[in-house]
Amino acid sequence: MRTAPPPIPPIAWAGLLLGAGILSALVGLFAGLWGALVILALAAVTVAVLAWRSAAGWRARRAALAAPFPDAWRVLLRQWCDHYNRLPEDLRARFEDDLRIFLAEKRITGVGVEVIDELRLLVAASAVTLSLGWPAYDWEQLNEVLLYPDDFDRDYEFGVDDLSGQAHPWGTVILSVPALCLSFRDPDDAYHVGFHEFAHLLDLEQTHFDGIPLGFDDAAARRWVEVREREIPKMLRGESLLDEYGAHDPVEFLGVAVEAFFETALAMRRNHEELYELLAAYFQQDPAAWDDARGLTLEPTRPRPPRHRGRTGRRRPRSRLSA
Ligand SMILES: [Zn+2]
Repeated sequence: MRTAPPPIPPIAWAGLLLGAGILSALVGLFAGLWGALVILALAAVTVAVLAWRSAAGWRARRAALAAPFPDAWRVLLRQWCDHYNRLPEDLRARFEDDLRIFLAEKRITGVGVEVIDELRLLVAASAVTLSLGWPAYDWEQLNEVLLYPDDFDRDYEFGVDDLSGQAHPWGTVILSVPALCLSFRDPDDAYHVGFHEFAHLLDLEQTHFDGIPLGFDDAAARRWVEVREREIPKMLRGESLLDEYGAHDPVEFLGVAVEAFFETALAMRRNHEELYELLAAYFQQDPAAWDDARGLTLEPTRPRPPRHRGRTGRRRPRSRLSA
């Protein structure tokens, strides 16, 4: 179970004030008493604002975790979220806590869509699926999730056969509601616009995507690039579980690999063992082992239709658009 992290400890605030005092003294030496007082006053205001924000965040998180997890939400998760269903008991409890923290702290806005609880849960479940193995992770780089009523094009016109999701370098994630629902409804087709777009945010460093997950050390990053270079020709030949959509851009490779890791874990472990191991170590999760534990076995691989380009966006598979 998650607990609310403590607010910034008093000793940290004491350190900040001490630093401000020393700075004021130095300023006083050169700019006189009034200069030092101005600096000290500015520092005190800054510390007060930081303290207030820290305490407010801590209270909000504690409030989010105080009440029992709503039964209605649990029913929805059981109905919609395959990853939640495959988790061991303790991780399922953690998933519920992370979900509540995400919903308490992140803004989800509908654009021509009413943001009902079910949709908020699906958005949060997409992000929490990825971050479940990282206890202190809080999606700091995410500013807002926008829910669109349909797929959209690059001018953000709706109803056009183009993108079903998009991640922006400034931390906005756009998700088409029909595509998001479809992603959860079919949990084993390696298509999940929520996983895909949140995976892009894991790659976001100072407004730049490079296709290598943040947090990889040099050795893991080298291994990732080697595996990617080996996989791409297979994807282009249609001999990979990974969607060919990810073969044309390293950034998209990460997105489709993450989708396949969580949606087709058993097949990934069997057919793309090194990639599976890299992602399992990265996410600190082993979905194939959890699928083993619930008695799932591999079925014949489905043929994969060709899909299309789009940087940091995600298209729906063509076969589904015509379905
Ligand atoms: Zn993408």
